[in-house]
Amino acid sequence: MQYDYVVIGAGMGGLTVANFLAKYGKKVLVLEKHSIPGGLVTSFARRGVHFDLGILGLYELDEGQTIPQFLEFWGASQVPTRPLRGNLKCFIDGTEFDIEAGKVRESLLEQFPKNRDDVNRVLDIMHAINKEMHSGKEAPEPPYDMTLFQLVKFGMNAMRQRPMFMKYGNKDARRVLDSLTTCDELKTAVYSKAPYPMVFMAFAYQWSVYGESRYPVAGMQAIPDAAVESLRNQGGELKLNAEVAEILIGNGRACGVRTTDGSVYRGAVISNVSPQFTYEWIPDTVAAKARMKAAIARRRIFEPAAALFMALDESRYSLGDLESISIVSTRDYRMTTGEYRPDTAPICINVYPGIEGDEFRPLVAIIPISYEYHNFWETEAGRKRGQSYRALKQEVEATLLHRIEQHLGTGFTNALVHHELSTPLTFERYTYSKNGSFMGWSITQRDYGKFLRQRTDIDDLYLVGQWVFPGFGVAGVMASGYYLAKEILKSDGVDLKKDFAKFFA
Ligand SMILES: Cc1cc2nc3c(=O)[nH]c(=O)nc-3n(C[C@H](O)[C@H](O)[C@H](O)COP(=O)(O)OP(=O)(O)OC[C@H]3O[C@@H](n4cnc5c(N)ncnc54)[C@H](O)[C@@H]3O)c2cc1C
Repeated sequence: MQYDYVVIGAGMGGLTVANFLAKYGKKVLVLEKHSIPGGLVTSFARRGVHFDLGILGLYELDEGQTIPQFLEFWGASQVPTRPLRGNLKCFIDGTEFDIEAGKVRESLLEQFPKNRDDVNRVLDIMHAINKEMHSGKEAPEPPYDMTLFQLVKFGMNAMRQRPMFMKYGNKDARRVLDSLTTCDELKTAVYSKAPYPMVFMAFAYQWSVYGESRYPVAGMQAIPDAAVESLRNQGGELKLNAEVAEILIGNGRACGVRTTDGSVYRGAVISNVSPQFTYEWIPDTVAAKARMKAAIARRRIFEPAAALFMALDESRYSLGDLESISIVSTRDYRMTTGEYRPDTAPICINVYPGIEGDEFRPLVAIIPISYEYHNFWETEAGRKRGQSYRALKQEVEATLLHRIEQHLGTGFTNALVHHELSTPLTFERYTYSKNGSFMGWSITQRDYGKFLRQRTDIDDLYLVGQWVFPGFGVAGVMASGYYLAKEILKSDGVDLKKDFAKFFA
């Protein structure tokens, strides 16, 4: 079967590039190994409760933001959403801190009376960084496509227009927090929202949009479902339960794929899967393969997480208006994921609004624990998930539940009607995202900004999604799809940036 483009993977990156290409008349096929599209944005049901893989809410679902804009451009149905307006509770070494939705500053000032100046300084800087990040009038060009002159100009403009971002935003969060306050509880409270070693702008973003995120009324799955509907309306195809096992190369160019059932689909290839897995599907006889693998071999990957999915019977235990609960120890903001153990790792419990018809409240606790934990989760270096893997999972789950119970009481654990742990290996197996990373490459100060380009060393083989420019997050991977489509369509004389701007003028 011949297509213009065969996309491997129906994550939001793959679905986005497919939609843009289909809109401009390209014959596109998306192959997805699962029975549902969406990758890390899928939902699944247990005991009649709908769980999302991990995202609680998205600011980018708000009117005028990336997701509704892209859907509108493709002629897709909009995704009905509701606001998330809940409160946060943070346990730091046993002490409780409460942050009211829409009143972050007031809440922190009240609870850190001796550090009022520090609270104001931290929040002012975070808001300034976020404002600067959203101040650009148009999407910037990928840095690797800029000439030296453009790069210098971009750098000079950034120094002038984004001073706070340049001073704090692209520095490691723990370094910035250490420079802004000596109060460990305050630093940990800020860090607890997303306890990963990251540049400070990630925290600035999280805190600045807190209270403004939205959740699809029908759950996160509604987002990829809308993208699939528009893909089909525009003549594109999606084939589910189709796992790619090989990328076909002819005359030095990618010219199709072979799936595990032996079917062949021909066309230029776009992979939405991590490059570490994608490159393995290239035949060893292709000279560029070794070079491409070597180029990424030393790059550091975003630290993964385990996720504890819980269904709560609220008739027996109510969480009131809480949207999120963090359980952390005082030193957490200085620790790295590799140092965490189940009895020390910060626990962030997201309380979902749930969807109509759900009998119980879905909660997902996200816990940073490394891919290598305990001899790769007792799997002899990640190779096989046997009895010892299951036993370790049970042990970790019991430890986490015990810690949660210590903070929320036995009433909470007694009201749980279901709980189930996924490990970084579960995430890896589910999406073939290397090490189960849910943000692509590491975004510490050392690694941030080293973007991988969408074009590869093999003609007609492209990458899209969280591993390439501009990177992680739903809006980031959708932007990567836009950039790739823009690049591809350029050779047809299409100026996607201009068309997009005209559409919304
Ligand atoms: C716990 C958690 C919390 C998160 N929180 C946020 C948040 O608050 N905000 C935010 O913006 N983002 C968040 N994210 C990140 C966001 O979900 C991801 O960055 C994004 O969805 C990745 O999309 P992608 O298109 O790059 O790839 P993926 O979603 O990984 O999609 C890849 C697709 O390829 C398919 N595939 C793999 N191999 C094959 C094959 N051989 N053949 C066919 N198909 C294949 C997979 O099944 C999958 O569908 C979170 C993620 C998690 C897990």
